[in-house]
Amino acid sequence: MSYWEQRLAKARSYLKGLDAILLCSRFNVTYVTGYTGSDAVALYTDTGSDLFVDSRNTLQAREESHANVYEIRKRWEEIHEHLEGLNIKTLGIESNAIDLDSFLQMKNLFTGIEMNPMGGQLKYLRSVKDPGEAALIGEAARIAGAALGEVLAEGIVGHRETDVAFELECAMRRLGASGPSFETIVASGPRSAMPHGAASERVIGPGEAVVFDFGSMYKGYASDETITVYTGEPSPEFVRVYTHVRKAQALAIDALGPKVRAADVDRTARDYLEGVGLARYFGHGLGHGVGMEIHEMPTLSNLSKDTLEEGMAVTVEPGVYLAGKFGVRTEDTLLITDTACKRLTNLDKDSIKVTS
Ligand code: ZN
Ligand code: ZN
Repeated sequence: MSYWEQRLAKARSYLKGLDAILLCSRFNVTYVTGYTGSDAVALYTDTGSDLFVDSRNTLQAREESHANVYEIRKRWEEIHEHLEGLNIKTLGIESNAIDLDSFLQMKNLFTGIEMNPMGGQLKYLRSVKDPGEAALIGEAARIAGAALGEVLAEGIVGHRETDVAFELECAMRRLGASGPSFETIVASGPRSAMPHGAASERVIGPGEAVVFDFGSMYKGYASDETITVYTGEPSPEFVRVYTHVRKAQALAIDALGPKVRAADVDRTARDYLEGVGLARYFGHGLGHGVGMEIHEMPTLSNLSKDTLEEGMAVTVEPGVYLAGKFGVRTEDTLLITDTACKRLTNLDKDSIKVTS
């Protein structure tokens, strides 16, 4: 079976007696049909798969997709006729992705068709990666890591965070990425204590912590990695926090494997930080799945009900944020293997990276 056939087979396993499933979210449409553009709806049954696009996207869809491509103008009216033609009586919908206006139109038009909300299930459709997908995430990470190496080699002290982020994104593009996989975080000095400190106008000074949280997109797949560097000789307090955050991450990574509960992995890191008095400065969850989207299933947090499976790509990113002083986060993306995990990100974080 080709990757596409495997993906369609996986998507069909969600039918569980339903006549058809309608996909609206861009990445699930891409996953199941191969079409990488926007503004499309996919429909699949046990035997067929159809893709509905408008005239702007017909050529691309016919080129990329192995589904039957239909060019439509009145989206929900024409999809309704199509459903009637196929005699669909029960339909799964992506309740987490469909907008309310579309749903109200569907509700009016799709009389006699029972719609079943499947959002909670279908968001797991892409959580287990095939080897081709894992390789693309790895390549995206390799490009992003090499780009950061170039930027650090140029020096960052005296530069604005936004300029450093821009240089990083340029380097990723130059090295083959289609762009950054999310808004690049460059957070220096006291701003490093903001877990989502998107790059600002602040000029990076000497003797500061700088958090880089960044990734690239490569052939439709995202990478995600965080490294905290120091401009100059690290302070003893920074060294202490860095060492504990790294240890928490290492313990959590050691805990990864198939059939492991995601909440337990989060607890491993949190318990360690609790033991050294730092857990109260670690407010966010431990990690998340990565794939076509920067955040996808599973979720690694204390509230997660997810269980890890071979083929999932997940981040492990503990952080400690000391308001007014500095923050430290360290993040890697790991592929769950049949026995443990394999790292997809590359930067060495064992010793504190000192930069100028
Ligand atoms: Zn990240
Ligand atoms: Zn992340």
